[in-house]
Amino acid sequence: MIGFEDCSLPSSIGICIMALRFDEQTRAHYRAGILRKGKQIAEALADVLAGKERRIQLRELPASGQKPGMRLEERLRAYLDHVEACRALLDASDDRFGRCRRCGVDLGELALAEMPWADRCPDCAAELG
Ligand SMILES: [Zn+2]
Repeated sequence: MIGFEDCSLPSSIGICIMALRFDEQTRAHYRAGILRKGKQIAEALADVLAGKERRIQLRELPASGQKPGMRLEERLRAYLDHVEACRALLDASDDRFGRCRRCGVDLGELALAEMPWADRCPDCAAELG
């Protein structure tokens, strides 16, 4: 079981770094924001599946999991998956939370306070369109 030892090392370092980046209160705030957003998307998805008219700003959708030609319900599902994955990172104190998935830069507390499920810095977001 040497492999298990090796695997556990990076995640414990991640937890250390994460604890330095955000205090308990900030993390609780992010978590509440993520849960609220998840509920909102789930409601939008339920409306779309029920055939109700539902408009959503496409630019609000994160780049991850979004492909051209996707139907609205597929986009919302991908968005919901994304928000859920962010919550999982936060709950696991994974240091990837709050960082740009592409370049790894810390997105900063101001941006995260507004969108704790963000996963792209403005530079990378602009490049991906
Ligand atoms: Zn970036």
